[in-house]
Amino acid sequence: MLKTALTQLFDIRVPVVQGGMQWVGYPKLVAAVSNAGGIITALSQPNPTALRQAIRETRALTDKPFGVNITLLPTINPPDYEGFARAAIEEGVKIFETAGNNPGPLIKFFKSQGCLVIHKCTTIRHAKSAEKLGVDVLSIDGFECAGHPGEDDIGGLVLLARAAKELKIPYIASGGFADGRGLAAALALGAAGINMGTRFMCTVESSIHENIKHKIVQSTEHDTIHIFRTLHNTARVFKNKVSTEVVAIEKRPGGAKFEDVRDLVSGQRGRVVYENGDPDHGIWSAGLTIGLINDIPTCQELLERMEHEAEEIIGNMSSLVTPKAKL
Ligand code: NAD
Repeated sequence: MLKTALTQLFDIRVPVVQGGMQWVGYPKLVAAVSNAGGIITALSQPNPTALRQAIRETRALTDKPFGVNITLLPTINPPDYEGFARAAIEEGVKIFETAGNNPGPLIKFFKSQGCLVIHKCTTIRHAKSAEKLGVDVLSIDGFECAGHPGEDDIGGLVLLARAAKELKIPYIASGGFADGRGLAAALALGAAGINMGTRFMCTVESSIHENIKHKIVQSTEHDTIHIFRTLHNTARVFKNKVSTEVVAIEKRPGGAKFEDVRDLVSGQRGRVVYENGDPDHGIWSAGLTIGLINDIPTCQELLERMEHEAEEIIGNMSSLVTPKAKL
C-alpha cells in the first residue's frame, strides 16, 4: 500500500483524487472512486437543492469520504457559488476542492467551518497565495491538463519540482496523469498523490455516452486543442469541428470577442456530447492523457492496476542505486 500525506489526511486507500469534472462528476462515479478521493462537481448541478440531492445519493452509495468541487471561472450564467457552498456544508461535506479565480472568500468560509480544502492552481505564485489562505492541500495543475491550464503554459515536471522546493504543505500532481507510472513519477517529484480527470471519464461507472469513451480510447495526445487563448481564458478541449471553428474565429484579423463564439462554446451544448455521444456536437474537455488511455476499466480495476504498477516501479527503482565503493 502507498501511504502518503494525502491518504492519511483524507482517510483514503489510494493517493488519487478524481478531478472536478462538469457533467461527469456525478454520484455513481464519485462513489466508485471511493477507495481514492471521489469529488462531486457542484456546477454539474442546476442549483444548490440538486447538489444536496447528489450528496445524499453519493452517501447512499458509499460510506467512504468524498468531496465537492467548486470552480470559479467566467460563465455565461454565473452560478450560485455561495448557495452551493452552504448546501454542501449543511449536508455535512467535510472536503472541498476549489479552483479558478479569486477563491479567497470561499476558502475562508470552508476553513471557518472546519473543512479540509484542496485548492487547484496552475502556478507556484497562486499556490503560495492559497497556502497563506490556509488551504490544506494544493493541486498543482500542469499545462497537460484538460480544461483551463491558466495562461503561463508551464508543464508539470517543472511546476512539481518547484513545488517540492517551495511549498510547505502537501500537494498533489494534476494534469498528465493516467497510470501507475505517472503516479510513481508524481511521488518522486514530492507529491502526496495525483489528480485524474480524463482517465476517470473513460471508466465503466462514468455516465458519459459510450461513444465518447470509445472516442477517448481511439484518440492520441495530438487530439486536443486550446480554445480561448486570445480571451485569456484558455481551455484544453477535444479537437473536433466545433473547437477547430472556435480557434479559426479567434485567428481572424482583429480577433474575436466572447460573443462571437458564445453559441459554439456554451456548456449546455457541450453537455449534449456526453448525452447523445456525438463527439462533434460541442466543446468537451480532454487532457493530453487521452494519448495514454486504451481501455474502459471499472474504477476499482483502474485504481488497483495503478497502485500495483506504481508499487512495482518504486520497488524496482532501488535497484538503480549501487552502493558506493569503499575507499
Ligand atoms: P458556460 O456555458 O458559461 O461557458 C462556456 C465556456 O466559455 C467556459 O469555458 C467558460 O469559462 C467560457 N466563458 C464564459 N463566459 C466567458 C467570457 N465572458 N469570456 C471568456 N470565456 C468565457 O460554462 P459551462 O460550460 O456551463 O461551465 C461552467 C463553469 O465551469 C465555467 O466557468 C467553466 O469554465 C467551468 N469549467 C471548468 C473546467 C475546468 O477545467 N476546471 C471544466 C469545465 C467547466
